Amino acid sequence: MSKINRQEILDILDEYDKEDITIATLGSHSSLHMFQGAKTEGFRTAAVCEKGREVPYKRFGVVDEIITVDKFSDIVNDEVQEQLKDLNSIVFPHGSFVAYAGLDNIETIFNVPMFGNRDILRWEAERDLERKLMTESGVRIPKKITDPAKIEGTVMVKFPGARGGRGYFVASSTEEYDEKIEAMKKRGWIEEEDIKEAHIEEYVLGCNYCIHYFFSGLKQDAEVLGMDSRYESTIDGLVRVPAKDQLDLNADPSYVVTGNHPVVIRESLLPQVFDIGDKITEGAKKLVPPGFNGPFCMQTLVTDNLEVVVFEMSARSDGGTNTFMNGSQYSYLYHGEPLSMGRRMALEIKNGIKEDRLDEIIT
Ligand code: AMP
Repeated sequence: MSKINRQEILDILDEYDKEDITIATLGSHSSLHMFQGAKTEGFRTAAVCEKGREVPYKRFGVVDEIITVDKFSDIVNDEVQEQLKDLNSIVFPHGSFVAYAGLDNIETIFNVPMFGNRDILRWEAERDLERKLMTESGVRIPKKITDPAKIEGTVMVKFPGARGGRGYFVASSTEEYDEKIEAMKKRGWIEEEDIKEAHIEEYVLGCNYCIHYFFSGLKQDAEVLGMDSRYESTIDGLVRVPAKDQLDLNADPSYVVTGNHPVVIRESLLPQVFDIGDKITEGAKKLVPPGFNGPFCMQTLVTDNLEVVVFEMSARSDGGTNTFMNGSQYSYLYHGEPLSMGRRMALEIKNGIKEDRLDEIIT
């Protein structure tokens, strides 16, 4: 199926009454602050919700319209798309939206105007593209080990489809790698054919900072709006078990995100933080024009050499933005009042309308 023509989206946007825009997204992931922020900036809001999932949006009073669907993936159905367009909707993408709507559908059949850059979502989803973007932008990432026979030092092993889940393990030698692969096969966590897909990279020993940037297409600036660190099961539970008892648990650590802590980074590291944001946004402009547009997140580990190493990126609003629904230490510095990522997004739409430049930031 062919890709949606950009002109088709702009024609739909052209028909919209700009005085009567709705901000819409799937009711999941990081939508609460998107709805709240959109309402604060004077927009109507609509949540596409699976039956039973509308509760928080109703109870917190942040949505005007609920479009109920049998399953989240129905957001790409013709009727739902028509309902959204009838409401003059601009969709704010987030992790669940991309996962349920599906990348292929977003690129080929979902023609509701969205805030962001449709093309960049694939660069987050495919590990090789993600590495290419980061490497060509000059961002420091963990070194890749191409052959398990060449493991020297501690490595992190990742499998596709198991991101942040059970499929990660740590190994410090080729023997340990082979043993753990066998154990994972026995548990049914991976299949024989997954083994060739194993991605092996340097284990970066450090503290986790997920940095939430907002790239303003209107101002051509990468703003640092907030930071979080992940609270992951079971790794964060294991550190509470005395070392001598950890082995008795016989539990391989897993990295399933269960929540997020707001965090601030040592002030002397902020030049590196801005440098990473500037480098990746410049790189993205060349590789995936027009580049980043709106929220994105660089997930990092900071070593005791005070080096910020990026191990993952989100090319849309990341779940950790939920830590600053009422603003963060950083967003306060820009705006002097509580500003969530969602409100910043709504503000960009508002400015786009005011400056008659909405077409530049809609995809
Ligand atoms: P991800 O699914 O890529 O977000 O990774 C899940 C978790 O694995 C992260 O939050 C980190 O705690 C850990 N992690 C990922 N890559 C590395 C690495 N290269 N070195 C050390 N820890 C890592």
